[in-house]
Amino acid sequence: MTAAKTISILGATGSVGASTRSVMAEQPGAYEVDTVSARDNVDELARLARDVRARHAVIANNDRYVDLKAGLAGTGTTVAAGPSALVEAATRPVDVVMAAIVGAAGLAPTYAALAAGRTVAIANKECLVAAGDVFMEAVRRFGGRLLPVDSEHNAVFQILQGHAIGEVARLVLTASGGPFRTSSAEEITAARPADAIAHPNWSMGAKISVDSATMMNKGLEVIEACHLFGVARDRVGVLIHPESIVHGLVEFTDGGHIAALSPPDMRVPVAYCLAWPERAPRGAIEPLDLVRLGRLTFEDVDVARYPAFATAMTALDAGGAATNILNAANEIAVEAFLAERIRFPEIAALVGETVEAAICEGIAAPATIDEAMDIDGRGRRLALERLDLRPAA
Ligand code: NAD
Ligand code: MG
Repeated sequence: MTAAKTISILGATGSVGASTRSVMAEQPGAYEVDTVSARDNVDELARLARDVRARHAVIANNDRYVDLKAGLAGTGTTVAAGPSALVEAATRPVDVVMAAIVGAAGLAPTYAALAAGRTVAIANKECLVAAGDVFMEAVRRFGGRLLPVDSEHNAVFQILQGHAIGEVARLVLTASGGPFRTSSAEEITAARPADAIAHPNWSMGAKISVDSATMMNKGLEVIEACHLFGVARDRVGVLIHPESIVHGLVEFTDGGHIAALSPPDMRVPVAYCLAWPERAPRGAIEPLDLVRLGRLTFEDVDVARYPAFATAMTALDAGGAATNILNAANEIAVEAFLAERIRFPEIAALVGETVEAAICEGIAAPATIDEAMDIDGRGRRLALERLDLRPAA
């Protein structure tokens, strides 16, 4: 029997965190949990730390330290609190660090794991959008590795096993089109947070669900793909595929295409990353029934319907720090929408204005993780200034 792999889960209480725990639970003895972390849901963190017998638990919110300590008393699990404790925990020696924090809050711990030479299964796409060059340079410099968890990138990664990127003509990421793919302009304007979060195929955290509705998510993913696979934007295509069965495809230089299919279940890419380079048993994942599905359909992206996607491509083309600002502004805009401070179409408008202002300023791309975090702060301030000018929704 092979030794259990040790896994740390940063963002253990979230949706990807839950998928990770579910995959591990399906294979008793295959995995051991080192660290689990969360922002401030201390009860849930303590509960799941007990459940997976974690060695270490970290709560990012300093004020919750005492509660976490009490929640894990007598278990042998060590506890820590605060952002620097999270960064430190990310460097602990494990086989795989699951980077499943949402947003730029994951920049420092995810980078720390890479700088410690770890293999990082990366769900936290905002890291690559805000600081892609810095992260890819860390992989080269410190000898770690990035395994893509995002389903589309994971699909492409699976397809590319054994192939050099020089053999690739084009990568294609699919998008479901989100809950408003066929909605009228009036319906989109009137959309409430609950409507935007009601994704047709995937069950995910609130932020990425809103990103899927605006299709900012696909914009972030094109940027993510350029960094992960080292290809220029003109070699990354996007297709709307409402069934979410084909997650990614690769067109090779000889005209051959390979597509990767699975049910829309994040446990598929998570299991692939945890077991890589081997294959895990299917566990509780539903078998794919193509006959029941009957047909798979594909459409072009209608950029008029998804202006946020167009803004993401503008930021990618502009270079410099524009994608970092894009990400920061989007986090502010999504939060404001979820708090019912702005209407749904204002998300794309606010991000678009902020990105344009930043492009005019010509901010240079971050060269270090600290610079990336500084630019993220600046992007947030730029977006907040514009948010404050808006009347309440
Ligand atoms: P989620 O909101 O469900 O969970 C986020 C996790 O991050 C929680 O554990 C939370 O406690 C932690 N967190 C949030 N803010 C933090 C902070 N300031 N400091 C420390 N920890 C913090 O999010 P999710 O849907 O699981 O998504 C996680 C990441 O994975 C995102 O980047 C998302 O884009 C990406 N992703 C998610 C899915 C999915 O199916 N949910 C699919 C592809 C990619
Ligand atoms: Mg995705």
